[in-house]
Amino acid sequence: MSSALISNCALYPGIPVVHPVLCNARTNLHVTLSEKPQTPSISGLSRSMFLKPTYVTTGDITTLDIELLCNDGIKGLIIDLDSTLMESGKGRITTETDAWLQLARPRLKMIVLTNNKRQDYIDNAGSVLNMPVIGYAAKPWKAGFRQALAALELPPEEVAVIGDRPLTDIWGGRRSNMRTVLVRPLSSIVEPSWKTFFRQLEHVFIRR
Ligand SMILES: [Mg+2]
Repeated sequence: MSSALISNCALYPGIPVVHPVLCNARTNLHVTLSEKPQTPSISGLSRSMFLKPTYVTTGDITTLDIELLCNDGIKGLIIDLDSTLMESGKGRITTETDAWLQLARPRLKMIVLTNNKRQDYIDNAGSVLNMPVIGYAAKPWKAGFRQALAALELPPEEVAVIGDRPLTDIWGGRRSNMRTVLVRPLSSIVEPSWKTFFRQLEHVFIRR
């Protein structure tokens, strides 16, 4: 990776960002862990309680560089549904998301993993996205991720989990030994303030 492309990430200052689209934290993660012993912080929380995604973006999923993912050995994606691929409850995708999926489809195997339990909603999402959707996933528990991996027929080291939620998508992906991509919610979504508040609260668990 060219160092000229790396700069500091305003959202996650400890994680290098490849502008404008992709941040690869793996190298940084290795250095950080080897140089800093895992001692309790002032607040008493162990560093192991915090999450560090493999990649973060400064935008939504449509800003992810598919070429960079492929060049990094990624052959499959497990993608969150609500706020990552479509606005919750809307049942349709934007032209930008559709264009990104069209670019990714020939290069990457893809499957959607959602905690949503409404079968009609899951069926519609599968139809709109034209890809398999696994519902009732209970992320961050491992069972849904195992099911998605089996469907992709890929080993975990060749799959990245993409999602907007640290405590479900990122934690679940890490627990299942996959690389993770933390994205922002779709830029087309205007979230209610309570949802933004809880999202920011969850981001406390992202290690800086
Ligand atoms: Mg989501």
